[in-house]
Amino acid sequence: CHADQRDAAEVATMAAFEMAERVNGCASDYLPESELSQLAGARVGEPVTLTPLLFELLEHSQVLAEKTGGAFDPSLGPLTRLWRETRASARLPDVAVLRDARFAAGWRHFTLDPTTRSVTLHREKMSFDLGAVAKGYAADLMLESLASAGFRQSMIAAGGDIRLGDPPPEREGWRVAVQTFDLARSDEVLVLSNAAVSTSGDLHQSVEIDGVKYSHILDPATGLGLTRRIAATVIASEAKISDPLATVACVLGLEADKFLKKLPGVREVKIRVVEDLQ
Ligand code: ADP
Ligand code: MG
Repeated sequence: CHADQRDAAEVATMAAFEMAERVNGCASDYLPESELSQLAGARVGEPVTLTPLLFELLEHSQVLAEKTGGAFDPSLGPLTRLWRETRASARLPDVAVLRDARFAAGWRHFTLDPTTRSVTLHREKMSFDLGAVAKGYAADLMLESLASAGFRQSMIAAGGDIRLGDPPPEREGWRVAVQTFDLARSDEVLVLSNAAVSTSGDLHQSVEIDGVKYSHILDPATGLGLTRRIAATVIASEAKISDPLATVACVLGLEADKFLKKLPGVREVKIRVVEDLQ
């Protein structure tokens, strides 16, 4: 965050981090007390009133699920939980357990009602995982918070999700180095402002089972981690778009760039497979 006065900028950045804490406290599926985790215990067919924040996140996620044909699915909770166990044990899930988790997952099995700001679950044992969208969403809110405090020349770096405001003083834009398969070097350096850039892939999180490498990104069609060595970078107007769509690009594969580029807010989509780099 570029500013003339350090004190005021520090107060504003603290407020931005509080914003991220709010999103985490509400949408984390790791915190058992989060609003999202509590939803997992909701009775089938009974509407649950949500905070405006979680309602907006689920509404945005539902639209994305629909637009991507379910390649992004916010209701993969039962499957991502199972996949965390798979990663820890390095053993593929039992067929019957996987089948039950697949039955309980699926974006068509919940409905949202904006008039009552509520969600209704239609399957037993449903749960949500907003891991592919909440970080980008938080980055957007953090940037907005800094801008409303007067600090428009700001950058939010949330791991693979970067949200950029106005360019730094006397610069054309922010320099963002993109890394996909190789931690030792970046594939390219982008110069951007008032945009978001997200990269998803298997650089940091994967598990090898019987010689096959599986990603932490799940193919909703199988319920298992992707086995393609793929990474994708999406540039969009906001991180709540670039974050989930970088994940979607990995699920859909190399040919998905043309389709994704047509979605609202998307500026550029770059999909790479490991062979490209050899
Ligand atoms: P990261 O969070 O590492 O930056 P992503 O943004 O690609 O990576 O999100 C991956 C996370 O999203 C997974 O850890 C999991 O929680 C969740 N997830 C995995 N596959 C999907 C999917 N097909 N749709 C929606 N969420 C997913
Ligand atoms: Mg993502």
